[in-house]
Amino acid sequence: MSVNDADQPGPEQLEAVRQLVARASEVGRVSGRQPWREVVVWLTRGRWGRRAGWPVVPVLTKPWQDTISAERHGWRTRAANLDDDFAFAVDYRICHRCRIGWVEQPYTHPRYRRHGLASAGFAALRAEHAGLSWHTLGGHFRSSQPFWATVGAGVPGGYHQRGPCPHLER
Ligand SMILES: [Zn+2]
Repeated sequence: MSVNDADQPGPEQLEAVRQLVARASEVGRVSGRQPWREVVVWLTRGRWGRRAGWPVVPVLTKPWQDTISAERHGWRTRAANLDDDFAFAVDYRICHRCRIGWVEQPYTHPRYRRHGLASAGFAALRAEHAGLSWHTLGGHFRSSQPFWATVGAGVPGGYHQRGPCPHLER
């Protein structure tokens, strides 16, 4: 990360973030099986940079995107695009038999925190997968507990920690 990552967003960036929050249902998708011909920008930096043995995850042109996860086999990544980078990203996994959704390691770019990106991304996932209860696979750092309390308020499952069900492939 550069030293400028924590800079305050300018008015144009704030407006861009507002647009992302408002358009969280506009999602470009790559199944993982189809060829990636829609790919226009290849991600080359930050936490999502290339790693040996992991697939390269594309950045699509829609405001939000849904791709295979670069870090967790069998998981998907929901991300918000801003300036050819991710303003927000979270890995998620659904079990339709158990009616459970898990999210892991949500990340908001430091410049764009506290503007509702995570809440909007989570709400879009819940809207697309109605009737699930929502959890995290891992525990919550003490420092992130206020975040989870906020995004989990009124949500079935509340994003409390819950281990994998028998149906999740390893
Ligand atoms: Zn299950």
